[in-house]
Amino acid sequence: MEELLDPGLGSVRVWLKRDDNKARKLRYNLGHPRVLTFGGAYSNHLRAVAAAGLRHGFETIGVVRGEERLPLNPSLAYAADRGMTLTYLDRAAYRLKHTPEVEAALRERWGEVLILPEGGSNAAAVRGCAELPAEIEAETRGGYDVVCCPVGTGGTLAGIAAGLPTGRRALGFAVLKGAGFLAGEVARLQREAYGRVRENWSIDLDHHFGGYARTTPELRAFAARHGVEEVYVAKMLRGVVDLARRGGLAPGTRVVAVVTGEPFPPRS
Ligand SMILES: *Cc1c(COP(=O)(O)O)cnc(C)c1O
Repeated sequence: MEELLDPGLGSVRVWLKRDDNKARKLRYNLGHPRVLTFGGAYSNHLRAVAAAGLRHGFETIGVVRGEERLPLNPSLAYAADRGMTLTYLDRAAYRLKHTPEVEAALRERWGEVLILPEGGSNAAAVRGCAELPAEIEAETRGGYDVVCCPVGTGGTLAGIAAGLPTGRRALGFAVLKGAGFLAGEVARLQREAYGRVRENWSIDLDHHFGGYARTTPELRAFAARHGVEEVYVAKMLRGVVDLARRGGLAPGTRVVAVVTGEPFPPRS
């Protein structure tokens, strides 16, 4: 594992575990011939579902927030190129996407279909992410204290925390503003997957940098300096450095930070 080098870290050490969390979340959701799911126009989850559909030979339908815009942006073009059928919901309807009424209307239109929630976070996704700590354990031979990850919908954190051995903890960094509700989501997802909630995790709410997909010149420079994706990964890493500097992570703490995605489109 590559080590993150940043002058703000002091004696806190941070190793980067690259892991495609969206693919991992899909693993135990596969097996249905037709999958419908939701996302914004730059959704990593839509791209991951489209790629999985092409690889494993199932049909995919992507319900995109907002109006159709042509030509497609690179993210939706990537999904469409892999065979995903794109359809659109205006923002008001999109907000209601997980209600029984909207789900019924989608089933009416698209027939027999597995519906995955936005971001792909369900109990099966949690079980997929729970396999990551064993890999970290093997690669570090147990030499870590905390696993950090970014938090969007909470499935990744729920799974990582569930898979950790006793004595280790998970720390998530919310990438959305006003994300106090996420702790309830992570708890719900663990309960759905395992029937109980672990107490080895927490969520930092102070490093959203203005909200989802928002950034600042400082965060942008930090992301470029470390060559990491900006919507999720840079916020987590910047948060880790900040906590190290202010004592929120004790001196000497050994952190494994999960680099959940790469910049898209890839930097040339
Ligand atoms: C979706 C995503 C996350 C957040 O995962 P959740 O399980 O939704 O919390 C983190 N990083 C990247 C790159 C993602 O695409």
